[in-house]
Amino acid sequence: MPPAAHDISLTTPVADLPGIGPARAADFRALGIRCVADLIQHFPHRYERELGEHSVADASTEVSPVHGAAANLAVRGEVLSTRLRPGKRGRFEAQLFDGTGTVLLTWFNSPYLRHKIHPNAQLRAWGKAQRYGDTLQLVNPKWEFVKADEDAHRQGERLRPIYPGSEHLTTALIESTIARTLGPALALLDDHLPAAYRTERKLPTLAEAYRLIHAPNDEDDVAYGRRRLAYDELLLLQLGVMLKRRQRRDQFRALPLNRTKQIDERIRARFPFDLTVSQRVVIEQIVRDLQRDIPMNRLLQGDVGAGKTVVALYAMLMAVASKHQACLMAPTELLAEQHFSTITDMLRDSRVTIELLTGSLPASRRKSIAARLAAGDIDLVIGTHALITDSLSFRSLAVAVIDEQHRFGVHQRAVLRAKSDDPSLAAHTLVMTATPIPRTLSLTIFGDLDVSTIEGLPPGRMPISTRVVGETQTDTVYDYIAKRLRKGEQAYIVVPVIDESDSGLKDVGTHLDRLSKGPFHGLRLDAMHGRLKREEREQVMQRFRKGDIDALIATTVIEVGVDVPNASIMVIEHSDRFGLAQLHQLRGRIGRGKRRSLCVLIGDPTNPDAIARLEAIRSTTDGFKIAEKDFEIRGPGELFGTRQSGLPPFRSAEFPRDAKLLAMARRDAEQWIDASPALDRPDESILRKRLLKAYGRSLGLGDVA
Ligand code: ADP
Ligand code: MG
Repeated sequence: MPPAAHDISLTTPVADLPGIGPARAADFRALGIRCVADLIQHFPHRYERELGEHSVADASTEVSPVHGAAANLAVRGEVLSTRLRPGKRGRFEAQLFDGTGTVLLTWFNSPYLRHKIHPNAQLRAWGKAQRYGDTLQLVNPKWEFVKADEDAHRQGERLRPIYPGSEHLTTALIESTIARTLGPALALLDDHLPAAYRTERKLPTLAEAYRLIHAPNDEDDVAYGRRRLAYDELLLLQLGVMLKRRQRRDQFRALPLNRTKQIDERIRARFPFDLTVSQRVVIEQIVRDLQRDIPMNRLLQGDVGAGKTVVALYAMLMAVASKHQACLMAPTELLAEQHFSTITDMLRDSRVTIELLTGSLPASRRKSIAARLAAGDIDLVIGTHALITDSLSFRSLAVAVIDEQHRFGVHQRAVLRAKSDDPSLAAHTLVMTATPIPRTLSLTIFGDLDVSTIEGLPPGRMPISTRVVGETQTDTVYDYIAKRLRKGEQAYIVVPVIDESDSGLKDVGTHLDRLSKGPFHGLRLDAMHGRLKREEREQVMQRFRKGDIDALIATTVIEVGVDVPNASIMVIEHSDRFGLAQLHQLRGRIGRGKRRSLCVLIGDPTNPDAIARLEAIRSTTDGFKIAEKDFEIRGPGELFGTRQSGLPPFRSAEFPRDAKLLAMARRDAEQWIDASPALDRPDESILRKRLLKAYGRSLGLGDVA
């Protein structure tokens, strides 16, 4: 026996609801709806304005008799007769009578309706009304059968929820199922926010919010209900993130580092340029963190080329100055090698011992580096994932820097232990990214990180001009670039693949060959891609840096971090295939020296997103603007590793629309945790349960429970 409506609970399976058989239940399951709670969380994706019904007699006086004038109208009645008019337009007509008069319903191109609409059927029809002489007519109206249990005329307008459905499950069916279940279900719903708290923030109860979403009278209802649900999502996430942060603080200590005037001067003397104001500001923020025995957990963002490396080096040298160790982790071997070479240059003739540790080193060498790190004989180690995966132990690791964090994903933000024999001692951690995150997003996903931002670029940068050209102009482009290369400029030419294949995409080998025999004849070319051996890669980069190579034909392996100031030309083949952040990163390889740089994007984009991407990259070089655009084009879920973050997607919150709500939720969460650090008061039990359900696993909040 299916339970009566008042017997349901939030966990009652949909299959047990009255009127839902096994087949229907399977259709609901296919939409991810298993129980009553799932059902009421299946939100409309839009609403349609539904007109109040009129009697035909009233409607006749409202619709002007002037030929062609139209008004919106909804009527309901019984079908008296139907007919399919002969002719190729497939015109189907029905006479609808409501006791006060008759309306003619006319559909064009709809011969199939003769199998659906029969005399005696009860219909509601709505749409544009017209009058021809005495005949009132609805042309191509929307319609539905009137349900048997429905007798009251619908007064006034209402918003009708339109649900995401499936082939088998229409929005009308979902609507009626929800409408029947909503009342009893909401009566069971406890609110995790106290009444005073809600009132102060002008938020409805949870039950009211659901009701407004599913059965609103107008748009304001929807907005009011949605605001509560969006707030809940944001508050729960912020509470989770802050609990996490507090746990980490309780669990770990860090080595406090010392900075004297002398240390500051000695570090700065190592840099071949003066720091910009913005670099100095973020360094001070970092130094304040490093001086405490709480582990730093800071995100350093700054556009491509903003000069993040020296900021990181400053932090690392503070560790070394206090007789501790530091490490720098990069996402590619190429970048690790480059950091190693520039940092080694800056530290020439100092007493700092520095090593490079990557996966392509022979095992014996890795072993010996590991032993020396454990013994404290290496001050500074630069490497790739190998730094984590080799489960190295340090004698005393004070600072860990992770470069180009977006390439790693959030989960790999592992806590690096400072000493192998003291599990409660963590390294101060600085993560860096050149994919600036709109502030809103950085607050949600990286809410447990403090954020420092380097504004602007170091002085003396020349603007980059960016051109988007079609395939047919390729030859002209390369002829022009050849001229500039012959005058001493250097170029990167980026193609999507290493090897020739039947994908029709340009590959490194073939393209290099073609250019050297054609427009780049006589110029010095070389290849760069991820499959080269380390020695080859280092050699090529060294020659390129020295100016012994005019053009580097490369894959996107050069995308992050590569820094050769004399390179002033970037060509990206098949540019419509690359993401916006990637294009911005690639372009960031040029514009670093004293020359005016040129970036040419070759491609013939066909889909609207690709067109939008190329237009965005053409129109600005500001990484923050590009990040906002990316956000617009792809939505927050795709941006900046949110997928890797493992966090559940928002159902109600949406950005940038809810930015203010987020700020409010963040403040509220802070205050809440200050007042009740473990969320363990009895009146917080529902909140805590919901928090753990939503974020317990993804944030690793296990021990709050
Ligand atoms: P990113 O922030 O992209 O990692 P880098 O740290 O690689 O940028 O710096 C980009 C370039 O700018 C490098 O060649 C670096 O030497 C130079 N640079 C950094 N800071 C300054 C500065 N204050 N003045 C002049 N050049 C700088
Ligand atoms: Mg960098």
